[in-house]
Amino acid sequence: MISFKNVNKWFGEFQVLNNINLDIKKGEVVVICGPSGSGKSTLIRCINRLEPIQEGSITVDGMVVSDPATNMTLLRAEVGFVFQQFNLYPHMTVLENITLAPTMVRHMNKGQATAIAMELLKKVDIPDKAGAYPSQLSGGQQQRVAIARGLAMQPKIMLFDEPTSALDPEMINEVLDVMKSLAREGMTMICVTHEMGFAREVADRVIFMDGGLLIEENTPLEFFNNPRSDRTKDFLSKIL
Ligand code: ADP
Ligand code: MG
Repeated sequence: MISFKNVNKWFGEFQVLNNINLDIKKGEVVVICGPSGSGKSTLIRCINRLEPIQEGSITVDGMVVSDPATNMTLLRAEVGFVFQQFNLYPHMTVLENITLAPTMVRHMNKGQATAIAMELLKKVDIPDKAGAYPSQLSGGQQQRVAIARGLAMQPKIMLFDEPTSALDPEMINEVLDVMKSLAREGMTMICVTHEMGFAREVADRVIFMDGGLLIEENTPLEFFNNPRSDRTKDFLSKIL
């Protein structure tokens, strides 16, 4: 579903991604962790070309991301993205936030988009918030709206960039629970997160990045019980 081949990326002189090779199958749930500044956000932002790469190639569902001929609207419709800061449109209601892209990009009619949005609001457990504005919701509720908005495009892949890092502790689980149920339904997911309980429970693979390098990847069991590299051990000792 997603394939990185010898991907290198620089910001000016600074190499942020160093020869990344990574293949993610349909339905796989991959957790990426690593210290701040290691290139995790940049890596997932390259998947829908929020960031360009200078060398190598990335393929998403058969589409070459860096190919100028690739239809980026189509590619981005297949890839939902949930950010640390929820990035909801503050002047729109929850329902408007969720139906905007399906009506504008997918040209769905309003009734159909609304029906899908209401189903998704049930799924993220806030069916009564359709008419609310983002400022009237808690952080956990806003992030669940952001997930519903991503799902409204009926994506094949969902990317999460530290979706619970900006939340108060008591709201983290309500967001992780939505992500867990998505994972169990077979969504292909890449989650940058330091929620290691989530990784143990639902990840098929855990990846550790440091300094732009993909240092280690393994099943959660092996990753946590038997980390291979000293850098991984050091990182785990700090966060567990
Ligand atoms: P992480 O998500 O692992 O914390 P990032 O991918 O955000 O790491 O950033 C990796 C490195 O690239 C950091 O040193 C960061 O300062 C740098 N960086 C990120 N975005 C930019 C940018 N747009 N321009 C220049 N440097 C950047
Ligand atoms: Mg980041």
